[in-house]
Amino acid sequence: MTAPKTSWVESANDGQTHFPLQNLPYGIFSTAGGAPRVGVAIGNQVLDLAALDDAGLLPAAAKGAFNAPSLNRFIALGKPVWTDTRARLTALLSADDSQLSGNAALRDRALVPMSAATLHLPVEIPGYTDFYSSREHATNVGRMFRDPDNALLPNWLEIPIGYNGRASSVVVSGTALHRPNGQIKLPNEARPIFSPCRKLDYELEMAFIVGKPSNLGEPVSTAAAPAHMFGLVILNDWSARDIQQWEYVPLGPFNSKTFGTSISPWVVTMDALEPFRRDNPAQSPEPLPYLQQQGRNAYDIDLEVALQPAGAAASTVCRTNFKAMYWTMAQQLAHHTVSGCNVRIGDLMGSGTISGTTADSCGSLLETTRNGAEPVTLSDGARRGFLEDGDTVIMTGWCQGEGYRVGFGEVTGKILPAR
Ligand code: CA
Repeated sequence: MTAPKTSWVESANDGQTHFPLQNLPYGIFSTAGGAPRVGVAIGNQVLDLAALDDAGLLPAAAKGAFNAPSLNRFIALGKPVWTDTRARLTALLSADDSQLSGNAALRDRALVPMSAATLHLPVEIPGYTDFYSSREHATNVGRMFRDPDNALLPNWLEIPIGYNGRASSVVVSGTALHRPNGQIKLPNEARPIFSPCRKLDYELEMAFIVGKPSNLGEPVSTAAAPAHMFGLVILNDWSARDIQQWEYVPLGPFNSKTFGTSISPWVVTMDALEPFRRDNPAQSPEPLPYLQQQGRNAYDIDLEVALQPAGAAASTVCRTNFKAMYWTMAQQLAHHTVSGCNVRIGDLMGSGTISGTTADSCGSLLETTRNGAEPVTLSDGARRGFLEDGDTVIMTGWCQGEGYRVGFGEVTGKILPAR
């Protein structure tokens, strides 16, 4: 094993940080009194790209793209500029380069401790689509809500099932959300009640951010799909199960999902994820031709969910991996656009809940606790069928390299009482 390449930013080299030289994820940050601008995470620091651009250290083609409140302007410049910028940042941060490390004034201006930075939503999101691509999740839910012997609906193995979600309520990690109110149909009542949700849940997902738009009427093939992706984030698709169960027939979830969706603040680029591509999962029956794929489109990403009641320690309640998803992101995008639907820069595409086959690998409490019937016990002895007010949900994920991790940081969110 060769030692991984190191940075002169010491905290990037400990093998545990999510943000080593191999990662360089993009985000939007601000410091006291300053405007939000583009930064890159390196160890426990944020590198201010607007400051580097002002100093003339970044590619000329990206000039002016970093003094912006979202990544959209940079993303719109296209893949050759993403690649050049990444190569430039890798060089500037490498242990054997002194152009930035040897310039004390610029270095002090451009490196901000992450603890002093406020992180913002990294992209302006024109549209949010959520898929349903874990066979284990779809089977678990089908068993509970429909028929244990025919848990998967007949279309599930043919279509990467999805629905159009709500972009306006996508929030960055750390944003607290109020428990939603809505219609709930109790089993022995003729009509629904209006009430705060009693079965509040999370859904562990990954999501890709569209980096290259497509034209109305022109499908994107599975082969072309990866070039349309800028990077990935972790996504928590908060879900009100009791509201969902009453409203979802016949057109799918609505208020049970639209009250908030949380994403992690750092966008990990497809370039950084390249070493962690894996073979696609076996699919039977063979998908229709427009869904068949040649390249390796699965990604090896370890994922965890922890629950933290107010004033208590966090307890891990789920460990799973992204690579087992039945439908890949390339197939999702090919299916999304096969009708002629176009996609735009910044569009957010959720994978669907990522679940394994055991209770401790399920990406939602609905599955882990079997709809609340088998509560989980947390480290302080508290039990949870679903989320209570004051609970914080913490999701994290990383790709394990040899001596380093390419990580996503965390997406956290606290539940406040209903209004
Ligand atoms: Ca979902």
